[in-house]
Amino acid sequence: PKENLLWKEGQGLKLALITLNTGRLTIPAGCAAGGRRMLEIAHEWANERVQWGAPIGKHEAVAAKIAWMASHTFAMEAIVWLTSGLSDRGDVDLRLEAAMAKLFNTETAWQCADHLVQIRGGRGYETAESLRGRGEKGYPVERILRDMRINRIFEGTSEIQHLFIAREAVDPHMKRGYKILQPETPAKEKLAAAAKAGAHYAAWYPSRYVGWSRFPKFGDFGTLSGHMGFIERTARHLSRSIFHSMMRYQAKLERKQMVLFRIVDIGTDLFAMAASISYATMLARKGQKNAVDLADVFCREARMRIEANFSNLFTDHDDAAYRLVLKLLKGEYDWFKGMLVQPVVPTAEQVEEAMAKLA
Ligand SMILES: Cc1cc2nc3c(=O)[nH]c(=O)nc-3n(C[C@H](O)[C@H](O)[C@H](O)COP(=O)(O)OP(=O)(O)OC[C@H]3O[C@@H](n4cnc5c(N)ncnc54)[C@H](O)[C@@H]3O)c2cc1C
Repeated sequence: PKENLLWKEGQGLKLALITLNTGRLTIPAGCAAGGRRMLEIAHEWANERVQWGAPIGKHEAVAAKIAWMASHTFAMEAIVWLTSGLSDRGDVDLRLEAAMAKLFNTETAWQCADHLVQIRGGRGYETAESLRGRGEKGYPVERILRDMRINRIFEGTSEIQHLFIAREAVDPHMKRGYKILQPETPAKEKLAAAAKAGAHYAAWYPSRYVGWSRFPKFGDFGTLSGHMGFIERTARHLSRSIFHSMMRYQAKLERKQMVLFRIVDIGTDLFAMAASISYATMLARKGQKNAVDLADVFCREARMRIEANFSNLFTDHDDAAYRLVLKLLKGEYDWFKGMLVQPVVPTAEQVEEAMAKLA
């Protein structure tokens, strides 16, 4: 009915997409703010709680978690400023950046919450009310964990963000190769399309190998310039890998979700690295010099993930796992369901006997 119409007729999809962009920028901002609060709690507790003769923050396993939280919260914040700035400009199509912000910040804030629960130990599992009831400070860590979890689901699940970003990355290649990859395209048309694509890729492909990352053009970024060079080199490596994935899987690539997800994760980490380096450089210029260390630690972590994703890009584990699930969905593993141990239900006489013994 007319009275239920939002905006104008025919503008529904546009309105939905605009609304999604807003959510995809505000949720990441909430995650970054949550990251700061989580870091604050971790900081207080890591100094206060003493185990094995030292504050727990001095044990390397706990320190590593706090370093992860601090450096990744910095990256979340950098992404928020970058995407908000782009949004304020008003003339930028930032659907891709907003999707990466949503994906990165919600996954990162969840991981921060998980680290925080671990750092708080048994108290991390307790509600704030229960803690206060025992006379302790009511850190709401259990609540934070629950609230951070939904961010990976609403406004587009992480899986859907991956697919959306992947489509943007692969689409330009797909458009060029579409006719060649379709079996029903007549041979003559295929040949013409191949010649056109061939001419494009003859120039494009070598350009993915040649770059300037080893030259001192990133000098403005000081000690972070090495990471900037890595981003430039790796962006070219990534575009070669997208091309290789297309050659390998052709039209089936859109169903190779795990390959696509790794490609997206690499791209998103590169985006977060660039945002962090730029944010740290700006803060350092304004006098906050140790911001550079946060960006450096973040970039080191991100580079390890990126390298792992490249080395597993075409792992045959994906097919093995997929085949296993097809069998599981067919019911071939029904023997593996249900209770591990059959409970023994005592008879009324046995209960009476036990109670009599206790009395
Ligand atoms: C607290 C809360 C508040 C909400 N608020 C709103 C709101 O204000 N407005 C609104 O419109 N909605 C709202 N929602 C709904 C929310 O947006 C959806 O729950 C969310 O988009 C996921 O959709 P779904 O639950 O139907 O999951 P499904 O689409 O059924 O997905 C189930 C799982 O399958 C995965 N999946 C689905 N399709 C694919 C695919 N093609 N490839 C790979 N994986 C896939 C998903 O990622 C997910 O892991 C809210 C939900 C909650 C819990």
